[in-house]
Amino acid sequence: MFDLLQKLAVYREKYYNLMTGRYANWDRLNKDMIVLCVALNFLNLFIRSHILALIAALFFFAPVFRVFSKNIDRREDENTKYFQKRKAFMEWLKIMYKRIAEIKTHRYYRCKNCDAYIRVPYKKGSHTIDCPKCGKEFKVKML
Ligand SMILES: [Zn+2]
Repeated sequence: MFDLLQKLAVYREKYYNLMTGRYANWDRLNKDMIVLCVALNFLNLFIRSHILALIAALFFFAPVFRVFSKNIDRREDENTKYFQKRKAFMEWLKIMYKRIAEIKTHRYYRCKNCDAYIRVPYKKGSHTIDCPKCGKEFKVKML
């Protein structure tokens, strides 16, 4: 038992030596790529495409490369950029879900000035909408 603990301590030391100066971080980008890799492999059980298998392999090796990378600043930049894009995409997805769920009662418009989403009760005809964020007026036609 003591021997096993000593061996584990040696492996732990070796692991720390190996990862010193490397990115060694399972960040959001890495985790999402692994999830995508698993999803693509599952999809490939039915499709059986070599190209899809290759793409899935890329989503496996890219996180491994990133974890062992010594260019820490660049890996952090990648994760930050990915995180911002992911957040914008999730917001868009949420709006799309609401748009479908409320299709009978409300309409969503995007302000041409500030890009904000505006939720308007549905009423047939032409209307003028004030953007609550920037105050700019614009006309919409509800069918
Ligand atoms: Zn606006």
